[in-house]
Amino acid sequence: MIILKLGGSIITVKGAESPTIDKDNLNRISREIKNGIKKDLIIVHGAGSFGHPFARGYEIGNPITSEEEFERKRIGFSLTQSWVKKLNTLVCDAFREQGIPAVSIQPSSFIITHGKRIEIANLDLIIEYLNQGFVPVIYGDVVLDTDENIKMAVLSGDQIINHLAINLTPTRVILGTDVDGVFNKNPKKDSGAELIEKFTSLNDLDSLDTTTNIDVTGGMVGKLKELLHLAEAGIESEIINAGKEGLIEKALNGEEVFGTTIKSTGNRIN
Ligand code: ADP
Repeated sequence: MIILKLGGSIITVKGAESPTIDKDNLNRISREIKNGIKKDLIIVHGAGSFGHPFARGYEIGNPITSEEEFERKRIGFSLTQSWVKKLNTLVCDAFREQGIPAVSIQPSSFIITHGKRIEIANLDLIIEYLNQGFVPVIYGDVVLDTDENIKMAVLSGDQIINHLAINLTPTRVILGTDVDGVFNKNPKKDSGAELIEKFTSLNDLDSLDTTTNIDVTGGMVGKLKELLHLAEAGIESEIINAGKEGLIEKALNGEEVFGTTIKSTGNRIN
């Protein structure tokens, strides 16, 4: 089984003022997936400009201090859920146009977090869809949280990757983003940034500050924390550039692809 993540930065125009899809990337990647698909593929996608602006605007996941705030956040939750679902529909439509039997899996309808970490998520349905030859497509979403102080949380595609991989033990975990992999500093801000081929610790980064971005779920640092946890559990993952034509297809075909592999050092990450 392969778990493939398509970052919000690659299928949407991240940072756009309103939800904007990157149609060229989505259509090209759909073709690459069709060409590279073998057996048992789960696709996870990020929310990009369809999720983060709303989740941030309504401060989903921050403590709720009054009934009025709760009321406002419920609307924000509903709005965010609606937009990320629209994105998921567009993604599944693009896949199906290529003949990929995509089925939409909505996190907010079966996942509950506690303190922003997945607590309840029955994966039986996903397994059954795989058994029947479907390609489950799951995505970053808002979910209910059993912590009374926050009541709701933003669930990143990266945490979903972590949870699926630990429970379903795939042979390969591939994350497609809009840069070549993990660099010692943000490559979009620093032309002297160097790619790290084997990433084992957040200490490999020059500084954590420059690595944060507009992402409500932690951007590259949030992603790396999830993947380091996964590496500790014995599952390596790789970050590759899905913006470069052919890399997703190569990776799905089992070939080695230029990028960053996240490996374990045996140390615990907090
Ligand atoms: P996605 O939406 O594809 O999951 P993110 O937007 O969360 O990805 O993270 C990818 C972005 O992280 C890149 O566009 C890059 O600008 C930024 N970034 C910040 N620091 C780094 C770093 N050290 N190495 C690679 N990318 C970084």
